Amino acid sequence: MEDIDCVVVGAGVVGLAVARALALAGREVLVLDAAEGIGTETSSRNSEVIHAGIYYPAGSLMARSCVEGKRLLYAYCRERGLPHANCGKLIVATDEAEAGKLLSIQARAAANGVPDLRLLTRAEALAMEPALACTAALHSPSTGIIDSHAYMLSLQGDAENAGATFVFHSPVLSGQASGDGIEIEVGGAEPMRLRARTLVNSAGLHAPRLARAIEGMPAGLVPGSFYAKGNYFTLTGRNPFSRLIYPVPVPGGLGTHLTIDLGGQARFGPDVEWVEEIAYEVDPERARGFYAAIRRYWPDLKDGALAPGYSGIRPKTVPPGAPAQDFVIQGPAEHGVPGLVHLFGIESPGLTASLALAERVREVVGRS
Ligand SMILES: Cc1cc2nc3c(=O)[nH]c(=O)nc-3n(C[C@H](O)[C@H](O)[C@H](O)COP(=O)(O)OP(=O)(O)OC[C@H]3O[C@@H](n4cnc5c(N)ncnc54)[C@H](O)[C@@H]3O)c2cc1C
Repeated sequence: MEDIDCVVVGAGVVGLAVARALALAGREVLVLDAAEGIGTETSSRNSEVIHAGIYYPAGSLMARSCVEGKRLLYAYCRERGLPHANCGKLIVATDEAEAGKLLSIQARAAANGVPDLRLLTRAEALAMEPALACTAALHSPSTGIIDSHAYMLSLQGDAENAGATFVFHSPVLSGQASGDGIEIEVGGAEPMRLRARTLVNSAGLHAPRLARAIEGMPAGLVPGSFYAKGNYFTLTGRNPFSRLIYPVPVPGGLGTHLTIDLGGQARFGPDVEWVEEIAYEVDPERARGFYAAIRRYWPDLKDGALAPGYSGIRPKTVPPGAPAQDFVIQGPAEHGVPGLVHLFGIESPGLTASLALAERVREVVGRS
């Protein structure tokens, strides 16, 4: 059986960032992914927003890794010339009740280390975005957008240049913890068994299932696995906005917001649809709810302007209605299995936080 220093399961944006960090730290790294290439799941099914770090509970891993990850990500994009734009965003209130919530959003952002949110009057907001309807708004200047695929290719390139190896079509099926590492069974066209001194489970939506398939891992410490699908509709006509437009958040999500890609094309979403299975079709019927939500802040949206786009699925560790979850990085200090590190519940803002999460995993691996 072949012995490997570090095996990273999953070549999404987080697994790629982890592989890069470990390889740059001089570790031998093998990345295994079940799919045919990098970033085929949640990492290519998101809004590609560089989040400021506004909404998360102060002190949470989400808040800390988002703010730190944003700083690292902007620096990385600048250094590598990766396509991105620091376009900013508006959070808009459409009635007095929502306007009252803007101050608490601003206070929460400040507690998270995002002190630059500015409260705007209706007139100030309309001067920035004339197509908008609102009573007040918050401007977040540090929010941006990124070409996530260019970013992932760059992470892969860095990892490979530092010696990491990538093998695709290689689902990790199960594992067995022993004193000197974790034996893993890899399926696919060329099944094999390997022994990893360190195993990083960065399998996204499938991370809890993989954790439960590792003998020796206490099953009671594996969190639940729930799927909150987010559907997008694209705008078929001209987009009149030059920055991202978000309503005041709704339970379970950020509300039906407008994001733009680097070409200026607008899309709306993601909404929140709890599902049992991983399936990505967008039901055109959901457009009705989108029109109603969007017209609160953009009344001129024309009938027929929305076309079903794509969807992504949030890997939730808690069921609908439960208090908000945090990112979980679980290492030997938590579960007692030497060499084993899990990442659970890496939903938004995982793309923004990826470089910071990778640093955290590198520290945990260094201690184990
Ligand atoms: C609708 C939506 C919108 C979002 N918008 C944003 C945003 O605007 N900004 C932001 O910062 N974040 C956003 N996110 C969050 C972000 O997309 C994710 O946090 C991030 O992509 C997670 O990356 P990952 O590497 O953990 O998982 P994934 O990208 O899902 O990668 C997991 C990989 O593991 C592989 N895999 C799974 N099981 C196995 C196995 N057993 N063996 C081998 N390989 C396996 C899969 O093939 C896959 O490649 C959004 C998420 C969603 C759902």
